[in-house]
Amino acid sequence: MSFHVYENWQAGPHKAVFHRGDCGFCNNGEGLSGGRYDPDYGKWHGPFSTLDDAKVFERSLSGVVVRRQCRCIGLHDQDATKVGPERDLAFAGQLSPGLTRALGGLR
Ligand SMILES: [Zn+2]
Repeated sequence: MSFHVYENWQAGPHKAVFHRGDCGFCNNGEGLSGGRYDPDYGKWHGPFSTLDDAKVFERSLSGVVVRRQCRCIGLHDQDATKVGPERDLAFAGQLSPGLTRALGGLR
């Protein structure tokens, strides 16, 4: 299993989302199939062999203000709720459903 970090600075705060490599959104760091991944607006980092490695790397990114874990990790990692839940929930509460979808990676 591999882990990836999707950094995105489009449509909202600069954010980082953790994914498993076999997630449909991650597609082993290539993004959604069909070419919707635009390197002008986001960047995949990885692969990392463990989620902890990905988290350590993410801390080296500058300007990230929102951190999330994709559902693909939440379903398999019982520690998912330990990653900045208060701030993420507060942020999510400020978004309309449409904008939340537009931000991507939040399925
Ligand atoms: Zn995912």
